[in-house]
Amino acid sequence: MPNPSFTQRVNLLNFDREGLSQFFAEWGEPSYRANQVLQWIHHYGVTDFDAMTNLSKSLRDRLKAEAVVSAPTVATHQVSQDGTQKWLLKLDSGNSIETVFIPEDDRGTLCISSQVGCALNCSFCATGKQGFNRNLSIAEIIGQLWLVVRQLSSEQGIHDKKITNIVMMGMGEPLLNFDNVVKSMDIMMDDHAYGLSKRKVTLSTSGLIPEMEQLSQVSPASLAVSLHAPNDELRNILVPINKKYPIKPLMEICKNYFKDEARRKVVFEYVMLHEVNDEVEHARQLAKILEGVPSKVNLIPFNPFPGADYKRSSPERIERFRQELLNAGIYTIPRKTRGDDIAAACGQLVGKVDDRTSRTSRMKKTNAGDSDRVIQNTTAPDIGISDRV
Ligand code: SAH
Ligand code: SF4
Repeated sequence: MPNPSFTQRVNLLNFDREGLSQFFAEWGEPSYRANQVLQWIHHYGVTDFDAMTNLSKSLRDRLKAEAVVSAPTVATHQVSQDGTQKWLLKLDSGNSIETVFIPEDDRGTLCISSQVGCALNCSFCATGKQGFNRNLSIAEIIGQLWLVVRQLSSEQGIHDKKITNIVMMGMGEPLLNFDNVVKSMDIMMDDHAYGLSKRKVTLSTSGLIPEMEQLSQVSPASLAVSLHAPNDELRNILVPINKKYPIKPLMEICKNYFKDEARRKVVFEYVMLHEVNDEVEHARQLAKILEGVPSKVNLIPFNPFPGADYKRSSPERIERFRQELLNAGIYTIPRKTRGDDIAAACGQLVGKVDDRTSRTSRMKKTNAGDSDRVIQNTTAPDIGISDRV
């Protein structure tokens, strides 16, 4: 029998520990093979099965013939003056996604994408405008981390700024790619793979209540909720999924999300839009709805993109808003913008989405000359992203 071609081989990056155990069980191998292989691939970054010396020769030969470790490939890599790095990763059929690394003095945060585009169409978010193509596979999600770890350690002088925090805040709504995202986060937190603590792996959601409920039962990861407005009337416009999952039940689930861990808090993200949601009255309403919810608030300066209807709040308005929340006893951090010289801040990431929802063509009607534009993605981090966690 000829070997399967490269593309037909099983990509081991698609498995978490449980998946690998099942895979090896079908081959009649003991379950500890999963730990060994997870460690080779993720901890040591080894892709050559011959180098996996604690596996039997026959297993190595079979893996060589039938399996592969294959991550997305780098199309471009840019480094900002402030040290932020951005990779454009090529996927199939012209789609691409971006991943951003933000080094800080005491940590390094990687912002990971979960979907090609996003179907939820928040009005301040360029990803929302670019439409949706598909969910990323586990290999494409964890592959972003796998790849960047390798990229950083192969660069002189950067290996000391390795990844300590992960935020699922790149392109897409992670809870709409539930299984693949949860399994990818499992790999991030697995001691045989990356061994990150649950406090340092954060999923950000626009507030999908049933999926949040499910997530709280299956994953210990940290949670960020993109709130952006303190009342339903405004949130319905900014985050349209609010019509389905309004603020009251959203706050109810947040109140109890970490009920077994008294000191854990939900991070609320609030994008600061000039004269839209940044009045003192909005801060007061926000303090009111957060009453009784163990919370931290991150104020994100809006990052404009072509065709955006909003302006960024001034630093004075952001500070005034923050003071109001602090007066109400709510821990609130304004975020700095990082990496904007290489378009790596929130609202500046570039991915390419072959839209399947026709939203892009609707956009093109209002943006003549856009047809071959690489559409911006807004969902990457801006800064101090690690402040969220
Ligand atoms: N879909 C998920 C995760 C990705 S978005 C979510 O909405 O939470 C990551 C963060 O970037 C979200 O809080 C999002 O609201 C914010 N964001 C999107 N567009 C932005 C922009 N133009 N400026 C600043 N932040 C933005
Ligand atoms: Fe999707 Fe998040 Fe952007 Fe809303 S903010 S459109 S949920 S990526």
